[in-house]
Amino acid sequence: MRQLETKETPVTVPLTHAGAREPDGAESNQPPAFEGRNLYLTDRALRNAAEREGAAWARERLEAWGGVLGSTETYALAARANRFGPELKTHDRFGNRIDEVVFDPAWHVLMASAMREGEHCSPWAEPRAGAQVARAAAYFMHAEVENGTQCPLTMTYAALPVLSRHQHAMPWLAQLWVPKILARDYDPRALPLADKTSALIGMGMTERQGGSDVRANTTRASPAGGGEYHLTGHKWFFSAPMCDAHLVLAQAPGGLSCFLLPRILPDGTRNAVRINRLKDKLGNRSNASSEVEFNAASAWLLGDEGRGVPVIIEMVQHTRLDCIIGSSGLMRGAATQALHHAAHRSAFGKRLAEQPLMQNVLADLAIETEAAIALTLRLARTFEADASEAERALARVATPALKYWLCKRAPAVVAEAMEVLGGNGYVEESALPRFYREAPLNSIWEGSGNVMCLDVLRATRREPAAVEALQAELALARGGNSHLDAHVAALTAALADANSGEAGARRLAGGVAVALAGALMVRHAAPALADAYCGSRLDRFGSGALGTLPPGAGCAEIIAQASA
Ligand SMILES: Cc1cc2nc3c(=O)[nH]c(=O)nc-3n(C[C@H](O)[C@H](O)[C@H](O)COP(=O)(O)OP(=O)(O)OC[C@H]3O[C@@H](n4cnc5c(N)ncnc54)[C@H](O)[C@@H]3O)c2cc1C
Repeated sequence: MRQLETKETPVTVPLTHAGAREPDGAESNQPPAFEGRNLYLTDRALRNAAEREGAAWARERLEAWGGVLGSTETYALAARANRFGPELKTHDRFGNRIDEVVFDPAWHVLMASAMREGEHCSPWAEPRAGAQVARAAAYFMHAEVENGTQCPLTMTYAALPVLSRHQHAMPWLAQLWVPKILARDYDPRALPLADKTSALIGMGMTERQGGSDVRANTTRASPAGGGEYHLTGHKWFFSAPMCDAHLVLAQAPGGLSCFLLPRILPDGTRNAVRINRLKDKLGNRSNASSEVEFNAASAWLLGDEGRGVPVIIEMVQHTRLDCIIGSSGLMRGAATQALHHAAHRSAFGKRLAEQPLMQNVLADLAIETEAAIALTLRLARTFEADASEAERALARVATPALKYWLCKRAPAVVAEAMEVLGGNGYVEESALPRFYREAPLNSIWEGSGNVMCLDVLRATRREPAAVEALQAELALARGGNSHLDAHVAALTAALADANSGEAGARRLAGGVAVALAGALMVRHAAPALADAYCGSRLDRFGSGALGTLPPGAGCAEIIAQASA
């Protein structure tokens, strides 16, 4: 046993977790423990992609972080933080309203170490070429192990560009909030910001009546003078309510607007934000997601009244990037466990990894994961501070396409990886049940699948620069694979088809995503992997997901039959 210190409580974690190295491992036909590995050094595709996309300078740091994340201790902390999830404490023992969320000490250890690494701030704190890619690689490895802690880290990372953009209008923002967000010393205490070492930021958009369509928000914001407003209403999903502030949308007199809503006010009193309950979620159980009510809560306007969506969209774009990185990491985390298990487990006199049909499954998992890594870090490069206009235009179409596609692939990949482990995969100690419960989430929040596909449609219809950037990226692989060339030709025709409507948006978005993946695989992966990817993925034109029936499939008639 070893003790890891938190600010509050020492946490004791067992040094063995799933599949302990037992002396009789060989006779029992059980694999050795999976954890206790360096997640960076054991990931060729990640290392290559990180170096290729501009983060070669971060190698030492990523190696160190890969060692921490892949350790037996971190896997045990991850299991524990999810088994003993957060609890809402609405009142103190004297009956005073406190609205506190109490976490297992394991959560705090994981948060402290991720903040030390800078997952919530590194590209802003140390801006340099490749900073987004380096952070993406770090965050990717985190996703292989634990996902709940990633929620507040992501939201904080994503909020900073918005706060920075508006700090000129509110100098106290720059002086007080920005330095605390850039700080790396985790501080979970509910104190006024001035008394804290660091700050975390969340986001509140979704209300009962609408999440995708935030224009339906009903929370009202009344001006109170000096940029301050009083918010009255609710949020139906409000994750990480222990964050020091949230960026929220509310209806001001001039329309839907974006506000900074602190948890504790500068005078030390709690803001009028009441946590009604925590959501009882399928997965992501280490993290708290809540329902809240605002009763004239103090908040400060960011940007102009009526510009709420354009202001918060920069945050949303960054959270979407993290959904993509997170789902790719989750896929890698599950697929490597499958490879590990199959390499050690025998059935019918041979290792699973030597059985031809199992080899087909493992290879398919491997190419899916390799493509996900290539796509993810390529996209992260378009988010760099020094990215060109063309890179930004590529991000405009690639972000929603990959958010749709990779987040949609994760549940299928995790389920398949779980099956490779047989019964062991269905048991909590393997971590795969936790990954399985987590897997659908990135597709639901921060713009659900359909919403992302409609965004791809919008970008390709209205932003010629985005289509040009996409074509230029795909052209780099032209002639490298006949399946890819045929797919790109079909995609080009689809992009030019002004008649293709919303019903075909999943086919289009999937088509864009697999084209980008195929092109990256052709340019950078071993030829066998690239050929396998292009030969198996591209002919289907983004299908392999539900909602990709061809034009003229008669959807309305089919639905009517099913509902009869
Ligand atoms: C665990 C968890 C934590 C969350 N945390 C937060 C948080 O911290 N802050 C926050 O603001 N929100 C949060 N959310 C909310 C999340 O972002 C929303 O659930 C999501 O945006 C979808 O909104 P909705 O639930 O209202 O569904 P709806 O908007 O009703 O959508 C339902 C379905 O309809 C589809 N759809 C919508 N419009 C169209 C269309 N025009 N055409 C075709 N299909 C369409 C969607 O893709 C979706 O599949 C969280 C959600 C979860 C599950």
